[in-house]
Amino acid sequence: MQYIGRFAPSPTGPLHFGSLVAAVASYCDAKFNQGKWLLRLEDLDKPREIAGAADIILQQLDAFGFEWDSEIVRQSQRSHYYAQALDTLQNQHLIYPCTCTRKEIADSSNLIGIDGFIYPKTCLEYPLKANTKPALRIRANNSKIAFHDAIQADIHQNLQIEVGDFVLKRADDLFTYQLAVVVDDAAQGVTHVVRGADLLNSTPRQIYLQKCLNLPTPYYAHIPIARNAAGEKLSKQTLAKPIDATLSAQQLFEALQFLGQPTPTNLQFASLAEIWQWAIAHWQLRLIPAEDSTFKQHAGI
Ligand code: GLU
Ligand code: ZN
Repeated sequence: MQYIGRFAPSPTGPLHFGSLVAAVASYCDAKFNQGKWLLRLEDLDKPREIAGAADIILQQLDAFGFEWDSEIVRQSQRSHYYAQALDTLQNQHLIYPCTCTRKEIADSSNLIGIDGFIYPKTCLEYPLKANTKPALRIRANNSKIAFHDAIQADIHQNLQIEVGDFVLKRADDLFTYQLAVVVDDAAQGVTHVVRGADLLNSTPRQIYLQKCLNLPTPYYAHIPIARNAAGEKLSKQTLAKPIDATLSAQQLFEALQFLGQPTPTNLQFASLAEIWQWAIAHWQLRLIPAEDSTFKQHAGI
């Protein structure tokens, strides 16, 4: 089987150490397995996009020595495919409109799931609000979705109980991440998804959509989340510093350490190209820790 991996950043800001770690893990795993590594810009959420961030991300990846295969895929140009997938689900009567606001859901739901309030299916029982553009939700099924994660071991989730009916198209007409990622991973032939564990909770939703759309399920490996000294996930919100091209060799070395790879001490003083060469040749996915307990020592990042 040809291995196809990918990195799928959202252009909401420059890459930080947490995104670097995800890029490095997916890259090394693909290259070690003689696979392809594709790049996809998840630029669907225009309101959250930062102008210029996509270009900065590409420059950062380039400066760190990543080489991607094939054309870069931009989700903003693929709405047609998401609409088709939604049609397929609609034909199975899995989709229904919802005109509830966030506040109404918060006030009416008495169940909190892994991703906020469980939608209490109000719009299935009561008429929709007039003159209000609806969001489109998919009915979550009531059975256990289980998969084996190469790093986080056996994961299972009952979508109906733990997530509820989730939105595939927002009232502002934007397709959501969950639908787009499933359509695109399949369209790009992705066989292995290596990404941050912040998305572990989303994976059962994606597997459910794959099943409904009759698409293959890739292998998944969720790497630990990089945190700052205060224990917060590195992100734009927590003011994570962008990775720095002038420190690329050092930061790649630190990413490999974060990923539990047994980096020889002298590699610390090697060139970027030498570190890449070592990293790909000696890559061991099984050494990646499930938790991020070792991260505190890199608190300067
Ligand atoms: N675009 C997502 C992010 O930047 C990653 C999606 C994925 O890898 O599935 O968090
Ligand atoms: Zn509703």
